[in-house]
Amino acid sequence: MPQVKYLQCMKCNKTFEATPNSYTCPDCGMVGILDVIYDYSAISREVNKDILQKNKDFSMWRYLPWLPVLPETVPPLRVGWTPVYKADQLAEVLGIKTLYIKDDGLNPTASLKDRASAVAVAKALEAGADTIACSSTGNAASSLAGNAASVGLKTCIFVPERAPQGKVAQLLIFGATVVSVQGSYEEAFKLSMEAIERWGWYNRNAAINPYLVEGKKTVSMELCEQLNWDVPDWLVFSVGDGCTIAGAWKGMVDLYETGFIDHLPKMLGVQAEGCCPITTAFRNNEPVRPAEENTIADSIAVGVPRNPDKALRAIRQSSGTMINVSDQEILDAMKLLGSTIGVFGEPAGVAGLAGLRKAVSEEVITSNEKVAVVVTGNGLKDVQNAIKATGEPIRIPSDMNRLVEELSTRGL
Ligand SMILES: *Cc1c(COP(=O)(O)O)cnc(C)c1O
Ligand SMILES: [Zn+2]
Repeated sequence: MPQVKYLQCMKCNKTFEATPNSYTCPDCGMVGILDVIYDYSAISREVNKDILQKNKDFSMWRYLPWLPVLPETVPPLRVGWTPVYKADQLAEVLGIKTLYIKDDGLNPTASLKDRASAVAVAKALEAGADTIACSSTGNAASSLAGNAASVGLKTCIFVPERAPQGKVAQLLIFGATVVSVQGSYEEAFKLSMEAIERWGWYNRNAAINPYLVEGKKTVSMELCEQLNWDVPDWLVFSVGDGCTIAGAWKGMVDLYETGFIDHLPKMLGVQAEGCCPITTAFRNNEPVRPAEENTIADSIAVGVPRNPDKALRAIRQSSGTMINVSDQEILDAMKLLGSTIGVFGEPAGVAGLAGLRKAVSEEVITSNEKVAVVVTGNGLKDVQNAIKATGEPIRIPSDMNRLVEELSTRGL
């Protein structure tokens, strides 16, 4: 792959050959997260705006020149090219002029994680593996299981017992071996790492595998292309492990370095109040310390984030910031998003919107700035929390008088 130079450790800066089985830095261990370093002039020789515009592959693979993936290993599910909506009514409610909502819940397994899992499957094929494993709060797992099924690879998945039923159902349908671990995500993670070591499976754990962030970067590249290279002032993402926001930032840097855009956005990272180790580390300018996992937004309930370095780099380099939201603010955002533009997000999927709302009210983001929020996961994965956001329907017998009564008390 001429576009990839090497892998570089975020801690000690040493470089390593980019083999498909490379995980963390051999010298630094688990904290030595590796970064894929590209030869930008090689990419620029390969692709430009005209070539991209003529490309009829409407999936994340239209950005293959920027990805560490061999064309022959690309899996078949259509990941990416999710819609972007200009959300005028919602923008007005929030008090800003321009708002775009990108619905990444419309990926094949209904979350942004498909972008990372598709790359994991490609790398597992390149490595000649027959089984891929990961621990996950839910979406990394279901996306891995779906993408692996599409090429006939086996999966062994470790989820914490709190994972919502919709996500567990996806895993089982995609044929994964599912281990529901009694305990937190951190405990599921530890067990998965031991099992991967013991059986030599391909490792799709967030941040441990340096290629996952590269898949996630296609979300922001795509957003920019869909906005005709008009870069928003702010990109907003919810944050758990930190790979998503780190990936989105890398996508912007890669576009900038290859001459596709002429400036960079600021990144707003949003965590749940009940689990916000990265926000705390950012605000206090200190290393990340383990936190409790106390929020309904299960996909971002990550007490020991695995990729704080890349996430914090994204926030700092972009002159962005981190913000926390309460579970109630998340539920309110879910209802607001659904009722103003018809997009249904899961709690972690709409936490970004809740964070934007707060950032506008605190004047961190001003009314004339252009903002894009990515909805990272579909609400049908977790209907229990959705009903919590809305309340129950009107329940009556089949009786017209009762209907008239009920509707009139609601002013309809
Ligand atoms: C995983 C996930 C996130 C956060 O991504 P991280 O890489 O863990 O920061 C946000 N929203 C949803 C729906 C997710 O599944
Ligand atoms: Zn190192």
